[in-house]
Amino acid sequence: MQAFEALESSVRLYSRLFPTLFSQARGSILLTQNGRKVIDFLSGAGALNYGHNNHQLKAAIAEYLASDAVVHGLDMATPAKLEFMETFSSAILRERGLKYRFQFVGPTGANAVEAALKLARKVTGRQNIISFTRGYHGLSLGAVAATGSRFHRTASGVSLSGVTFMPYDGYFGPAIDTADYMRKVLLDKSSGTDSPAAILVETVQGEGGVNVACREWLQSIQSIAKEAGALFIVDDIQMGCGRTGEFFSFEFAGLSPDIVVLSKSLSGYGLPLSMLLIKEAADAWQPGEHTSTFRGNNLALVSATAAINIYWRCRTFSQDVHRMGNFLRHRLEAISFKLGNRFDVRGRGMAWGFDCQTAEIAETAARKAFDKGLIVERCGPADQVLKLLPALTIDSETLSQGLEIFENSLAETLNEVSAA
Ligand SMILES: *Cc1c(COP(=O)(O)O)cnc(C)c1O
Repeated sequence: MQAFEALESSVRLYSRLFPTLFSQARGSILLTQNGRKVIDFLSGAGALNYGHNNHQLKAAIAEYLASDAVVHGLDMATPAKLEFMETFSSAILRERGLKYRFQFVGPTGANAVEAALKLARKVTGRQNIISFTRGYHGLSLGAVAATGSRFHRTASGVSLSGVTFMPYDGYFGPAIDTADYMRKVLLDKSSGTDSPAAILVETVQGEGGVNVACREWLQSIQSIAKEAGALFIVDDIQMGCGRTGEFFSFEFAGLSPDIVVLSKSLSGYGLPLSMLLIKEAADAWQPGEHTSTFRGNNLALVSATAAINIYWRCRTFSQDVHRMGNFLRHRLEAISFKLGNRFDVRGRGMAWGFDCQTAEIAETAARKAFDKGLIVERCGPADQVLKLLPALTIDSETLSQGLEIFENSLAETLNEVSAA
């Protein structure tokens, strides 16, 4: 790892947390160069919902490459792009009674958030964006302005403006409905809060600590957006593509956002691909008004199409994710109970947070887990939450093995903390 210290910028992060050379990967297992097997509960921060090097997706990619079809074509029309849009429209959107236009943006999630905010401002002629405490939307200037973390905001080096933060669901505990506050402030012409162009929300805050918004709250937020004349934008970058059990994380609440932002697991293979789903009425762009060199990369579109065909043509995959998610929740609750019930277990589908209350416990447990062969990330305002994002395709044996390591690491950590 010394070579990385010498060669790579000090900004590197995951190579510090998991200091080893990873040389191969398949499904939910990473192989280190010296042959150690590591179970992956991080899944590329949610970019690998179908596991590493998923062989069915790889076959589609390999075939496309072998055929000399167009890989990079800016946003020129290609059969691969048409097939993706038609497949997504029929298998995902029409099935759910949704209708959207596609906007392909630069390859990162932040690119997509930038585009969504820009479009909302253009459509409404307003500047202010409503975002939420502990929200995470990426680190480019427009996106980080809507991100809660002071650490990341400070790093931007300029004053960030154009966003008003509102308390997320549960911010003041279960007794207070923060949507009431928000409705009052946004509909009061003298509240001091400028009329919003958009309300931007995650249905489960991934980086912010796996904070779960309830159905009623999300429905209120959507209707407040409408009443306030703002676009309703769901950032489904981390919680979309099946992570919470359904393809979109907002399906359970019956929402119909004006704009949906997708990235991370959209390509299915870990290839960079981001896009906006836009209601036709909000599609106010002039041709070329927002562009990028790498938008809608055809190779990523091919694997995205294959992922939909393989996993989302029928309901069984979603049912499997729910079943496995329930198993995961029960196991985590049992672990918490066994270890003195001092933890908070939160999540939906296959996205779970294990709140250790202190960063020390979470950090030590994550380090021990890695030593024992499990990758698990931390999140939350104090990095005090262990975040579990196993691949949706993980087999139950690997999942159980990972959870065993997780439990042992926590138990050891607690023993050490109480001995100290
Ligand atoms: C990861 C993430 C982003 C940013 O995506 P990048 O590809 O890292 O720019 C934005 N919003 C949410 C909810 C995310 O999880």
